[in-house]
Amino acid sequence: MKITEVRSMYPHYRVAPAAWRRHFWQMVVRIDTDVGVSGWGAGGGGIAAVEVINRHLRELLVGRSINSIEEVARLWDDQYKASLPYGRSGIAVMAISGVDLALWDVLARAEKKSVCDLLGGRRREKVRAYATGPDSAWYRDLGFSAHKSSQTRRESQAADAARILEWAERARQTLGKDALLMIDAYMSWSPDFALSVARQLAPFKIYWFEDVLLPDDLDGLAALRPQIQPILLAGGEHEFTARDFRHIAKARALDLWQPDVTWCGGLTAVLRIAKLAQAHGVPLVPHRGGEVWGLHLLAAGGGENLAEMVMGKRGAVRDELWLDEPQPQEGDLVLPEGSGFGVQVNEELL
Ligand SMILES: [Mg+2]
Repeated sequence: MKITEVRSMYPHYRVAPAAWRRHFWQMVVRIDTDVGVSGWGAGGGGIAAVEVINRHLRELLVGRSINSIEEVARLWDDQYKASLPYGRSGIAVMAISGVDLALWDVLARAEKKSVCDLLGGRRREKVRAYATGPDSAWYRDLGFSAHKSSQTRRESQAADAARILEWAERARQTLGKDALLMIDAYMSWSPDFALSVARQLAPFKIYWFEDVLLPDDLDGLAALRPQIQPILLAGGEHEFTARDFRHIAKARALDLWQPDVTWCGGLTAVLRIAKLAQAHGVPLVPHRGGEVWGLHLLAAGGGENLAEMVMGKRGAVRDELWLDEPQPQEGDLVLPEGSGFGVQVNEELL
């Protein structure tokens, strides 16, 4: 099978995401082949990544053969090398991620298999999901037993700590004593604040602190990590390719890795990162792993049995870019039926 066309598009979102995401949110990639099978993928980087694909990566890919996982990996290496002068991370690798996922989709669809099958088949009938957002009562009603809250620094140290403690008390009460509770600092805490909050939170048994410091501060993270035990220091959504995670491993900067499949280089990159994580005995919990792009890996037994679902608030309006995406049932996710990643793009948004 040969690639005949590669096209990236930025959807007409009706609900604008927050902050930088407004400009660089998820784009889609379509790949066509000479056997009539097409595949779809999602990647970060917005309109900028669309340009990287349509003006550059496309010309490397059209005419190339794609018949195996090894060939997908070869195409990944070629795209990485070709974009290296302006890439290596950020938007260029977000673009490669979308292409890579579309290649996996097309390969699996051509073989009438799921991506999970290509990864060795289903080893988890269901994957435990955790709900990210501010609405713990809704998550309890939906059957979740794991929840993460965003807790960025906003006011004085004392006021922020009080707010976080109040959240922990309420979330523990709402979700019960066995629930997993996690906190995302979104790179806004200082080491001192993290340490102080970790001590105050001891009775609430928090599972991990995420994105505590700037990801560039590997030394700072490495110094903080042992001090907040037994709370795990998690991060990795702003890292790209196995190279970044090799640096994290070397610095012993994080207890738990969270690569984003649609940003860090796609499934091909995540498989390399997962291999590295295994070699270093580090648990892997992909960022937004409950979306199909990560879920196939988790269902195939890769990473931990924990998939993030960014749920937001009860009743909030959201764009449905991918149709047939699995919804949590009693806090678990089951892979959709069908070949490839098992979802269809919502043409209305393109
Ligand atoms: Mg995060």
